[in-house]
Amino acid sequence: MNNLVKINPQAPEAEVIEQAATILRGGGLVAFPTETVYGLGALALNLKAIHRIFLAKERPDWDPLIVHVRDMVMARPLMKRLPPDFELLASRFWPGPLTLVVEKDDQIPGEVTAHRPTVALRMPWHPVAAALLAATGAPIAAPSANRFGRPSPTRAEHVVEDLANRVDLILDAGPTPVGVESTVLDLTQSPPVILRPGGVPREELEKVIGEVRLASAVEDETARAGLAGPGMSLKHYAPRARVELLDGEINETVITLKRRVEELKREGKTFYLLANYGDDRLYAQTLFDQMRDADSQHADVILAIMPPARGLGLAVRDRLLRASGSPAASDGEKDES
Ligand code: AMP
Ligand code: MG
Repeated sequence: MNNLVKINPQAPEAEVIEQAATILRGGGLVAFPTETVYGLGALALNLKAIHRIFLAKERPDWDPLIVHVRDMVMARPLMKRLPPDFELLASRFWPGPLTLVVEKDDQIPGEVTAHRPTVALRMPWHPVAAALLAATGAPIAAPSANRFGRPSPTRAEHVVEDLANRVDLILDAGPTPVGVESTVLDLTQSPPVILRPGGVPREELEKVIGEVRLASAVEDETARAGLAGPGMSLKHYAPRARVELLDGEINETVITLKRRVEELKREGKTFYLLANYGDDRLYAQTLFDQMRDADSQHADVILAIMPPARGLGLAVRDRLLRASGSPAASDGEKDES
């Protein structure tokens, strides 16, 4: 791959950053690491470049993009007004895996926000992302650098698998440290609402601003984990293998697991086990990589043990639930959120 370039994750080489920034300024696409997953970047205020993101990802136009900023000076003109809690949250969690949904300024093209009156803003801490934002001096729209519906990319190899020659440059800084996407928090509602659980846990947000609600879609899915039959949730973040969820009290889970393993063996099916072994941070970090690993090993079934719905466990549960959605949902409407 001649568009794949290695870059130092702690101290990105200036000439590589400049090469990437030049491509972005010219309206090109650059895949780059953030602390969450790899992003597919284009200048947020360049309409042609934005169109290229949707084309490359095969992303439907109703799915809005997150706009990345370097600092508050870059963020402020993108917003119509500062909602309550914005400054408090930004001072505590930025740079970091928290995306804040606010009323958008008119200069942001409607295509970026799927014609919503709001925009999702994030300031990543990953040194490569930060250096790229500093070099371009302009906001960068960057959804996850995967094909729509596939597990998000946590390694440059995943970007190559999904997007290869559809991007102008892929910056390879090794695996991303958080491994799941940012928490998306809607500040246009009061109390604020988590639209997508992610890298910043709900509990951490509540320590700073008090009550934070979970969007009903997230709550419903979390509540019916384990009960969900195929077809109940929309398939997304999906490996090719069928994802079966095991949830509930640990002793019962172990019994169910043993039974399923025996059944699958009898049916001649191969399986791949996903579990946290008591460490939700590690589970989040390796989740998408393991889903892709299961596929590369041609596993028929992924048996996934659900972590408890707290801390990063909430984000892991959300992704597993979506990945387990029925195959019927995968060729129809999908929900990237
Ligand atoms: P991705 O960048 O691929 O992780 O996806 C971005 C996600 O952020 C979208 O799928 C939405 O769920 C969410 N998002 C982005 N912009 C908005 C917005 N204006 N309002 C609500 N959610 C948003
Ligand atoms: Mg995505």
